[in-house]
Amino acid sequence: MESMIKTDLFLSLLKWRRRLKRQERWNREQLESYQAQALNRLREFVYTRSPFYQKFHCGLYRAPLREVPILTKSLMMENFDDLVTDRRIHLDEIRTHLKRVPKEKRYQDRYWIIPTSATTGDPSVSLFNNNEWAAVLASGIRSYDWAGVRIRPFHRIRAAAIVSKVPTNMTARVTGTIHFWWFPTLRISAADPLSSMVERLNRWQPEILQAYGGIASLLAEEQLAGRLKIALRVIATGSETMSRSWRERIDSAWKGCLFDRYACAEAGMVASECDRHCGLHFYEDLHIVETVDEKNQPAPPGEPGSRILITDLSKYTQPLIRYDLGDFVRTALDSCRCGRPFILAEEIQGRTREILHLPSLNHGQVVLQPSVFHQVLDALPINGWQIIQQEDGLEILVRKVPDDFSDESLVQSIQQAISAMGAIVPPIRVKRVSHIPGTPHGKTPLVKSNLRERAPLTTSAPV
Ligand SMILES: [Zn+2]
Repeated sequence: MESMIKTDLFLSLLKWRRRLKRQERWNREQLESYQAQALNRLREFVYTRSPFYQKFHCGLYRAPLREVPILTKSLMMENFDDLVTDRRIHLDEIRTHLKRVPKEKRYQDRYWIIPTSATTGDPSVSLFNNNEWAAVLASGIRSYDWAGVRIRPFHRIRAAAIVSKVPTNMTARVTGTIHFWWFPTLRISAADPLSSMVERLNRWQPEILQAYGGIASLLAEEQLAGRLKIALRVIATGSETMSRSWRERIDSAWKGCLFDRYACAEAGMVASECDRHCGLHFYEDLHIVETVDEKNQPAPPGEPGSRILITDLSKYTQPLIRYDLGDFVRTALDSCRCGRPFILAEEIQGRTREILHLPSLNHGQVVLQPSVFHQVLDALPINGWQIIQQEDGLEILVRKVPDDFSDESLVQSIQQAISAMGAIVPPIRVKRVSHIPGTPHGKTPLVKSNLRERAPLTTSAPV
């Protein structure tokens, strides 16, 4: 039974891979016509099988996509049993299953389950059948294809992945599943000490390294110092906003090898860089991507959108139609010279959980995007930073500051940046640290809030 499922998954993966390769050679017109057909197919299926969507989209079955309501993570989780299209699936059972069974055992022997971060409240759950899971894996492989690495049977490539120590997390789960003999992957816990990571990587000598941006930047520092000695072809990052200083450091250690990616537990790989490195292409043959502003109106290219909505064209078991990923994005005005038909995200400005809310001068609330802090801190000659919102103000952690560094002028610059946004400036203190603490998953978010009421809307994880 188990080997049949694995063989079936492998065959589906090959099929998806061929399909994705063909689709990225389409022109824009072909892509859009495919999207329209695939969306109709999905909606037809969903409206006959999902009691939740029958009510949620009531009277809008034939309405254009932009007119149907937005699905948030909490709405999805509150209505889980009615939203899914298989009536045998029950959230309570899944939660019990996750607590009880060994890792990598599928729910009801047929569904792959990915819970998102359990660090705040109840984790949300993403569920995939074999074919849908094959699409997720194929989307991960596409990101390597674009980086010029051909992952295929009978062609061994050594890889290493710095993964979350939580085994059901997306990174851990995907690297666990694609552990075929022709893609031997050394898995290192993101919670391990840096020196141990360096030692194991030196021994393993990977050609591909997958890591969160913050850890990749620390490893780049080790490589530049000569303690880490690995000749990488690709360093694939994701899941955290890539700061300019991280990018520069990684690029000086492994020139041209950095490929940033954007993935989420709900839909797998959503966007990644091609070899032109001018942004991240959305995988629009797998998802319809909308970037909208605060009022949920389409954000024009070049303008920052306040959230990304995706409609997953291949996910039928737990359908996502206009699902709010939350994260900020700015799409590019120009198309990429690589010729792929997919729109480019010039930058993914921040993840939802990196947004801070501060009281405004006129009694409202100001939403501070991470870019407010990036513009000040990325320009400084420091080696790592983190903003933490505490009950009593903002704490700025700075790492490896030069001798002539002035805490006061940093505080002043941040005060100015915050007040320019119309917010009441909270007390700010600078703390010099030797290392920036990570989350239990091993991520090091640049901006985070420790205020109790702010739970993340979404959790993204690299594939
Ligand atoms: Zn491109």
